[in-house]
Amino acid sequence: MRRTKILATVGPASDDPERLRALIAAGVDAFRLNFSHGSDVEHRATLRHVRTAAHRAGREIAIVGDVQGPKIRIGEIGAGSVRLRPGQDWILDARTEPGDERRVCAQVPTFDGIAHVGDPVLLGDGSVELTIARVRPESLVAKVTAGGVVTSHAGLFLPHAQLRTSVFAAKDRRDAALGIEEGIDYLALSFVREAGDLDETRRWLDARSGGRDVGLIAKIERAEALRSIDGILEKADGIMVARGDLGIEVPLERLALEQKQLVRTANRAGKFVIVATQMLLSMVSSPRPSRAEATDVANAVLDGADAVMLSEESAVGQYPVESVQWLDRIARATESSFDPRPLRDDDRSPLPEDERAVAAAAVRLAEGVRARAIVTPTHSGRTARLVARLRPSCPVVALSNSPATRRRLALVGGVTSLPAPLHRDLVELRTRSAELVRSAGLGVGGPIVLTAGYPIEGRPTNLVTLVGPAPSRSGAAARAAARTTPRPRRAAG
Ligand code: PEP
Repeated sequence: MRRTKILATVGPASDDPERLRALIAAGVDAFRLNFSHGSDVEHRATLRHVRTAAHRAGREIAIVGDVQGPKIRIGEIGAGSVRLRPGQDWILDARTEPGDERRVCAQVPTFDGIAHVGDPVLLGDGSVELTIARVRPESLVAKVTAGGVVTSHAGLFLPHAQLRTSVFAAKDRRDAALGIEEGIDYLALSFVREAGDLDETRRWLDARSGGRDVGLIAKIERAEALRSIDGILEKADGIMVARGDLGIEVPLERLALEQKQLVRTANRAGKFVIVATQMLLSMVSSPRPSRAEATDVANAVLDGADAVMLSEESAVGQYPVESVQWLDRIARATESSFDPRPLRDDDRSPLPEDERAVAAAAVRLAEGVRARAIVTPTHSGRTARLVARLRPSCPVVALSNSPATRRRLALVGGVTSLPAPLHRDLVELRTRSAELVRSAGLGVGGPIVLTAGYPIEGRPTNLVTLVGPAPSRSGAAARAAARTTPRPRRAAG
């Protein structure tokens, strides 16, 4: 079993039922729809294709609707892209005609007060840089200091500007409303600055989703968000280390350190964390990843990421299925070297101490008896997340009668979800849990450990119990079990 989840962005390269089916078969656990690109009609069609493909595959696939947020982009370039040369001027203005090597449209209501002569302007992934030479309310002239190719709709960054607009703007609300109608499981909020951004969005979501629980993912791509990360984690269901924009906001040489810190902080808080962007970028046009990319994916797994994400690789690349297969191979090859001890020994978690203690007892018991799985009957998914946070060496199986909960758990590392009614009777729950794990073919040998909020979910997790005979540890059976049962993990060294 692979514990690291795979989130793939859907786009023209993947957006048809047959290709989606192939991506799911290759190992995708969740799809992301990027509302920055495409029309309403296309978004609806994509969301329906994903649901159909997941249904046909019989898999609990989560859908993440990623709203654009206050990202400024340039408009269309007539030829699709343009090469800017150092020393030339480029005009950013409000005209809607396609751009060229002289000018381009910029989606900014006004430059007044946000752009100043001498400020930098960064384009795309930040490698093309200009310096502002003249500013008018409706346009600016900038001189190219670092040249390169700029494509249509590339991101436009004014790192010195203080944009105080809401991160959940009118377009985002329209896109989110469409997503909710089509059944998204998570809303990913871009350019989050602080916990208040999530409060505002959560209130809107609760009012719009009619009680249906749509999860909230905070994309961490602003330097400000790094300073408010504890508050953000408290309000979000999970975070995304959005390295594309974060790599422009923070010095690139610090990006790996910020990633490690974010992953560790999210692990500690019991919230899932996705590492995103350029993981296998060369696979847009090549069937194999580079050495550096393979190492980057492995490092994200060793850092403790719950999920890794594909962007262009699966949205517009030539090898979407191969990209998923490579993520799968690298994650499987790396996971057994993850060392959970620093996480388990870390007492700085903000989670309630009693719940942490019960989850730790379940994991200790499961590893002590070489359990085939830890089963967590759950309504909201919380118990499963609390246990999975500790990285047990066996699968965490969430039993839930809520399809929405099962789908949301698709982004939580190490968790497999199965449909099951909520049993209030402990004897029935024990029998049924063991049957379900066995018939789903999960885990290897051994008894199961059951942990839950008892008598009814919604209580803090308070029960840990062993189900099934503890395997005898003598003779050939013990040797066979030792060969097949995952061992507690060791550091890679
Ligand atoms: C990112 O910036 O890394 C990211 C995931 O955001 P987007 O793809 O929406 O630009």
